[in-house]
Amino acid sequence: MPPQNAPAEVPAVPVPELTPATLAVVAGRPAKDPGAPVNPPIVLSSTYVSQGTPPASEKLYTRWDTETWSPFEQAVATLEGARLPGLVFGSGMAAIAAVLSVVPAGGKVVVPRHAYHATLILADELAERYAVTVERVYVADTDAVIAASAGADLVWIESPTNPMLEVADLPAIIVAAHEAGALVGVDNTFATPLVQRPLAWGADIVVHSVTKYLAGHSDVVLGMALTDDEALHQRLWHHRTHHGAIAGPWEVWLALRGLRTLSLRVERSQASAADLARRLTGHADVVEVRHPSLPQDAGHETASRIMDGYGSIIGLRPRGGASGADQLIAAVRLWVPATSLGGVESSLERRRRFATESPTVPDDLIRMSVGIEDVEDLWADLDQALRAAGRRQGR
Ligand SMILES: *Cc1c(COP(=O)(O)O)cnc(C)c1O
Repeated sequence: MPPQNAPAEVPAVPVPELTPATLAVVAGRPAKDPGAPVNPPIVLSSTYVSQGTPPASEKLYTRWDTETWSPFEQAVATLEGARLPGLVFGSGMAAIAAVLSVVPAGGKVVVPRHAYHATLILADELAERYAVTVERVYVADTDAVIAASAGADLVWIESPTNPMLEVADLPAIIVAAHEAGALVGVDNTFATPLVQRPLAWGADIVVHSVTKYLAGHSDVVLGMALTDDEALHQRLWHHRTHHGAIAGPWEVWLALRGLRTLSLRVERSQASAADLARRLTGHADVVEVRHPSLPQDAGHETASRIMDGYGSIIGLRPRGGASGADQLIAAVRLWVPATSLGGVESSLERRRRFATESPTVPDDLIRMSVGIEDVEDLWADLDQALRAAGRRQGR
């Protein structure tokens, strides 16, 4: 008979006294035994030899658990400062769907007005199918988030938000939401654990679209959920297992390989993003630049106080409205016009091209994901594209 519950004993993750940059390199390696490989193997097997009543600790079937997930789950947990291993999912959305499943029918969830659009679609689905009350808030308005937390089962925060880059005062929100009796889940995709670790502030659950910075090479779609609460861990495991929201072994192996360079990639792309945001601010063909590193940015004060960096996403509104933005995107040569973000290659996209994007996101907003190319090359390409778009508009 197949087990209906997660293994009773979840192995604790050792938290060595090393910096995150080092942990990203060393976590999840095989033991240094003579002749051992330095990387964990990929095991391609759907099932394991077993008979009789299975002990809870034994591997049986890879929808339940597999050794190819564990090193990556341990490594990300170590980076996020989680006591329990993370749970890898087949996508960021699969992880978010698992978290939203903790909201009971007739319950209440607080979500950001601006968040990853599929998250908001799922929240609306909860409202339709399970009579869940969904309250949308501006995450940078701490008082509004705290007020909305009253009676909520789950307060779901993204920070910085996708694509508006609003910054939430997470420590304050987490304390207040807990006082109101709500769980707090944080989508930490944009910040990465190198820039903020919400579990340390008491968040109940942290989620990543691993697809983005953690894997970092635009070659896999994966997600992860992390929690220090054993009961929640069990619920999320149950959801992953019985909804079949699992990841393939190759993808997880690639994500772990990508994770090794997280610190170098984040360091480089953050520095370039801040540099480009500053240069764009003074550009004649630009209406608005959003990046928390800019002193005049609405998120600057909070980000400087609570985060260890400002992230690598820039919001850009060029002159000429939505068509000006489309002209700019058509004119870039180095930057890749594409959705998604967090890869080594710089990419950009006008978000409102999707009908599902929030109507309060400006029509002309371009979300720019800064990669690890030389910043002068990135700037030269943007500058020529801005000028080309300007010429087409008769400037
Ligand atoms: C991309 C993204 C997601 C969804 O992740 P997938 O891996 O595409 O399913 C969720 N949250 C944020 C902030 C994202 O950028």
